[in-house]
Amino acid sequence: MTAKNGHITMLHGAGGTVMHELVKNYIVKYFGGASNIDVPLEALDDAAVVGDVVLKSDSHAVKPIFFPGGDIGRLAVSGTVNDIAVLGAEPYALTCGFVLEEGLAVTDFERILVSMRETCNEAGVNIVTGDTKVVEKGSLGGCIINTSGIGRRTKALEKNLTVVKQFRSNFEVRWILDSNLKAGDKILLSGTIGDHGLAVLSAQEGLSFGSEIKSDVKPLNRLIQRLLSDVGGIVAMKDPTRGGLADALNEFSEKSRVGILIQEDKIPIRADVRAACEMLGLDPFEVGNEGKIIIGVVKEKAKEILELLKTTKEGKEAEIIGEATADFKGVAMQTVVGGKRIIARPVGDPVPRIC
Ligand code: MG
Repeated sequence: MTAKNGHITMLHGAGGTVMHELVKNYIVKYFGGASNIDVPLEALDDAAVVGDVVLKSDSHAVKPIFFPGGDIGRLAVSGTVNDIAVLGAEPYALTCGFVLEEGLAVTDFERILVSMRETCNEAGVNIVTGDTKVVEKGSLGGCIINTSGIGRRTKALEKNLTVVKQFRSNFEVRWILDSNLKAGDKILLSGTIGDHGLAVLSAQEGLSFGSEIKSDVKPLNRLIQRLLSDVGGIVAMKDPTRGGLADALNEFSEKSRVGILIQEDKIPIRADVRAACEMLGLDPFEVGNEGKIIIGVVKEKAKEILELLKTTKEGKEAEIIGEATADFKGVAMQTVVGGKRIIARPVGDPVPRIC
């Protein structure tokens, strides 16, 4: 692994190949292999499943703690809620651990708490236990927040699985997992990519891109439950956070052992995000998002999922961006000029501390 002189670098937290190697070579090495866990640590999915409880822990160290379109509190609630929701579960209780930095204004702390309360109300969850620690002034940037949470099975998830089985008779999996894709499944993206990473970067660097690019950070659990219950047929889901669309699609491809072919002209990107990425030399496919989902669905239900998404405010710019295929391994993109480009797993998200 690329540890500089055997030490942790910022890349180890950037959601790409360097972070994945740290997790696999160190964390899974010591904590993996537990028996009787339905979806264990080594599945490296968005959350674990223990019995019928979905369990997730997520620390948030975004810098700065307030950014266009959101703040660390909204991010902390949404991040954990969404990681539970993409397995098909309904999140219902969260924990919250604060590490506050000496010197943080109490008014800022309260602003974060108000934002967390509001985001919990949006998602229909509650924070039920937690912890508060304070450290000396340094480089925290005000505070870091850990949120953990539990989620449970719903009727919507059962209904979704019944629909999947109509089209795939041997489907025995009880959860929506990264490893469930089969050749022929369609891949949908719920909206524009890159907004969150660019919004945080603009706040970090004091950049202005003409129009203000706002973070998309939001809880998506209610939307996901609607997709599962009103249409169904969903087999895999992921929120493309650090490492962006490129990292998330490669996770699908590796874990499901299928190729994924996407169409460049179908990927929704805001014109100002595209222009800012070009100016800064960033690949929008590798920039993190906090309010988007990638959905793998049986091909017979893809159009209905798209139609429902388009009626919602979170999904009005959704597109069917591609499909899983047995023709090759990895992720490739049909470009607008007619060629094919490999979408490799990024080394790390190009923007540091976005979540
Ligand atoms: Mg996730």
